[in-house]
Amino acid sequence: MRILVVEDERQLCDDIAEDLELERYTVERCYNGLTAWEHILVEPYDLVILDLNLPGMDGLDILRAIRQEKPELRVLILSARSALSERVAGLDLGADDYLTKPFELEELEARVRALLRRDFASRSAAVSVGALTLDAQRREITADGAALPLTRKEFELLDHIWESDSNPFSHSVRMHTPLCGKSSARPLDTTPL
Ligand code: CA
Repeated sequence: MRILVVEDERQLCDDIAEDLELERYTVERCYNGLTAWEHILVEPYDLVILDLNLPGMDGLDILRAIRQEKPELRVLILSARSALSERVAGLDLGADDYLTKPFELEELEARVRALLRRDFASRSAAVSVGALTLDAQRREITADGAALPLTRKEFELLDHIWESDSNPFSHSVRMHTPLCGKSSARPLDTTPL
């Protein structure tokens, strides 16, 4: 499961990313709204954790754009805007969940689990094409019944290809094949604000 954390408070962004990495998610982080949107467009994320007040592009604008371009992508809004009207606006625009700062990381973890479980439950546990079988629940790919040794990153890539019926030589696969097996904890945007 691949998660993008978009938050310009760097310490908070890093804390969230590191916490979710400990929960065994593949996490990328971004401190700028526009850079985040550029990545969301081309990367197959399962969930975006999205702050609202962001440099580059406002969180609600990103959410609006996600709902137009990637309606299936789950979005959890994270914001200090605790006023009811802001919360309603976010949910009206299609956010899947909303967490008001400050919050406990444990609560965020629980909400992330719930959102991604929804995704998991909506798919059958195993799918087969020819001799290959991908079992999402056991996180295993077998060829003629024999398990293929795959890293977590490789499994997630294949899982995405399967899920989206996309061309296996698509942009995101070309970009990620050399990175297979490596955790991409590197920030996407390291330019100072
Ligand atoms: Ca912010």
